[in-house]
Amino acid sequence: MKIDIVTIFPDFFRGPLDYGIIRRARESGLVAIEVHDLRRFTHDKHQSVDDRPFGGGEGMVLRPEPIFECIESLGFAPREERIAGSVKETIVLLSAQGRRFHQGVAQELAQIDRMALICGRYEGVDERVADHLADRELSIGDYVLSGGELGAAVIVDTVARLIPGALGNEASAQQESFTAAVSREAGDGPDSTCASGGLLDYPHYTRPAQFRGMAVPEALVSGNHEEIRRWRRRCALKKTLRNRPDLLDEAPLSDQDRKWLAEFDVANDA
Ligand code: SAH
Repeated sequence: MKIDIVTIFPDFFRGPLDYGIIRRARESGLVAIEVHDLRRFTHDKHQSVDDRPFGGGEGMVLRPEPIFECIESLGFAPREERIAGSVKETIVLLSAQGRRFHQGVAQELAQIDRMALICGRYEGVDERVADHLADRELSIGDYVLSGGELGAAVIVDTVARLIPGALGNEASAQQESFTAAVSREAGDGPDSTCASGGLLDYPHYTRPAQFRGMAVPEALVSGNHEEIRRWRRRCALKKTLRNRPDLLDEAPLSDQDRKWLAEFDVANDA
């Protein structure tokens, strides 16, 4: 996958994309990330990338010309082909007004060959970029950042680790929080290595088994795989009910799952 990031602060990306899985994915050639300085696409002495808003109001707005010129220099397929899906390319504008980015969007983007991420600043970006250049606007959450760079780093990190080969163990990408079970029947519980099936992940423990009087749950040291599977599933359900009950609306649930959920509700300890 090739990822182009368009920003007025290219140095921002020194660091966030240089560690761990993303670094290894870059080094092994699974993903190539190029950061483009928007100021290089200006033609005035001051290299101005922003201007005052038409209609008045607070702040400054990123001008359309440098952004169009920068993207056009990158050789993407025409917008109609990108939107129709006849090429595996997409141009994303980071925006608080965008559709919410989530694991499902990350899985979709991980299938793509080429992606550009346009980072806004100030009051935002001239709307013609959203209307005529970008294929989609994505928001990383319901809050306002001071720039799109953190959002772009979040998207690159989330998507790059899903590219086949990026994680040492492919199965782990299917067992995480939010990740819908890929090939299991609806209502199936996970096995003992436990696909989350759209729930939050189950709790993890490592050695020591006893730490300052806190013991690792017995089920996990039992060696009984069925017991471990049931314990993990039950915990995943309990945590999801407590922290993200909205996820339960979409997740496929077995009769046993529903029984457990009813018990937590009654016990009111979830
Ligand atoms: N006036 C805008 C906020 C501009 S913040 C509004 O009220 O919607 C400046 C830039 O930060 C935006 O252009 C966008 O690129 C980025 N940004 C801010 N919040 C974001 C979010 N939740 N997700 C993604 N990008 C965001």
